[in-house]
Amino acid sequence: MKTCTSCTQELDDSSFYIRKASKDGLSRLCKVCDNQAKRQWRELNKEKYQASNKEYHSKNREKINSKSAEWRKDNREAFLESMRKWREKNKHRQAQHAMRYNASKLGATPSWLTGEQLTEMNSKYLEMVELNREHGKNSFHVDHVVPLKGKDVCGLHVPWNLEVKTSYENISKGNRTYPDSWASVSSGFDVLSK
Ligand SMILES: [Zn+2]
Repeated sequence: MKTCTSCTQELDDSSFYIRKASKDGLSRLCKVCDNQAKRQWRELNKEKYQASNKEYHSKNREKINSKSAEWRKDNREAFLESMRKWREKNKHRQAQHAMRYNASKLGATPSWLTGEQLTEMNSKYLEMVELNREHGKNSFHVDHVVPLKGKDVCGLHVPWNLEVKTSYENISKGNRTYPDSWASVSSGFDVLSK
């Protein structure tokens, strides 16, 4: 057992990260506080960190470029594999970004969304990727229940207006009209009328 110096809770040793430099081999902070501190540090030092990174890159651009080109040539397989992995891991982001971009163009993204709600939205895209993995590529999409550019009402880019559906449903939706299918989804809805 060990007491976290931040939240002062007495916790099991497994709740602390290993830190070889300290006497008992454990971090002073529990994992939760440690992560929070790291996050805060990154947040506070974001600009500094980004600026120094940027400076390094612009000073050493040629060296970095030729080095990575060389590496890619020598490690073509590994490079393609890491690209593939990155795409796989970020699949949900592509769909998410496209929808977010479109929503912001239409002015359908409210500024008052909380972090929790954004996480909720994120999880819909992750769910889509998971379902596509199971049922085959492109068989599921994330869609707006009420379209952002509906005929009579316009939906918002918010968690409760997002749903994961089969692509079949998504395509057939093209002919839906509002507000006749509106009643089923209208509870607790924010609508922008245009
Ligand atoms: Zn703590």
